Amino acid sequence: MITGRFAPSPSGYLHPGNLLCALLAWLSCRSRGGRFLVRIEDLDPNRCPRRLSLQALQDLRWLGLTWDEEPLWQSDRTEVYRGALDRLSGAARVYPCFCTRAELHASFAPNLGDVNPVYSGKCRCLTPEEIRERSRLRRPSLRLQVPDETIAFSDALQGGYAANLAETCGDFILRRSDGIFAYQLAVVCDDAASGVTEVVRGRDILPSTPMQIHLCRLLGFPQPAYAHIPLLTDSQGRRLSKRDGDISLSALSRRFTRDEIVGMLGFAAGLLPEVRPASPEALLPLFSWEKIPKDEVRLPFDLAG
Ligand code: GLU
Repeated sequence: MITGRFAPSPSGYLHPGNLLCALLAWLSCRSRGGRFLVRIEDLDPNRCPRRLSLQALQDLRWLGLTWDEEPLWQSDRTEVYRGALDRLSGAARVYPCFCTRAELHASFAPNLGDVNPVYSGKCRCLTPEEIRERSRLRRPSLRLQVPDETIAFSDALQGGYAANLAETCGDFILRRSDGIFAYQLAVVCDDAASGVTEVVRGRDILPSTPMQIHLCRLLGFPQPAYAHIPLLTDSQGRRLSKRDGDISLSALSRRFTRDEIVGMLGFAAGLLPEVRPASPEALLPLFSWEKIPKDEVRLPFDLAG
């Protein structure tokens, strides 16, 4: 069964870019009669207070983006991630890393313009004595040794994408030194547990996808289909920012109706030929990935107010 999801990290209010992502994920799934889920990615409870997570659910409900099961909360699922970490340790090399933030910065190998730095592999060859010694001073993070091979996939919107993890990120973190499991691991476990077949999310996460595919393969999980949507910009093509005023949904809903907001997003995404109010249901028959711009989605006018 087609299963889609929206998985916000509520470290702030959902902004119009998140709403666009939720809408497109919902439309892609529901237009094919699929089951739709919501997951709260509050892995780091200090960054994602419960109040903001509840507000995110409330916003999605207000927009009319219905879901079919109780939302999953990542903060409840530590045991699942621990089990997956154990399995990974059996399937590949997982090792402790004692590098501090400052050491990491100093040792990152340069990597041709990519935003994420490449880990040099500094702690990969520590002896058991060195590990014992360092563990007394500092709790390590855990890293997964990555293979020197290309991982390729086809994105519904961005087309072909390929990366060699050894060159683009190096051995990556599965659990942070503060004990919090890495987003990459949690996403893969949760999508598999929920039977997610299609992942729709922001294009900023595209570089993480080969890491997640690698984890899926090691854990024996099926690989979902992916669609990475572009950044939502203001009418001038600039990144939305504080300058645009308060663009939380509660602020927008004081100025626009639900259908006006959905219509604005639907027009920006290329689904409506003009800006007019529309419900999410009204956009269902109009939805197609072919209509969605792949580089940038511009709002029809600025939201400052
Ligand atoms: N939680 C991530 C975000 O809010 C999205 C993760 C995903 O959809 O896989 O950007």
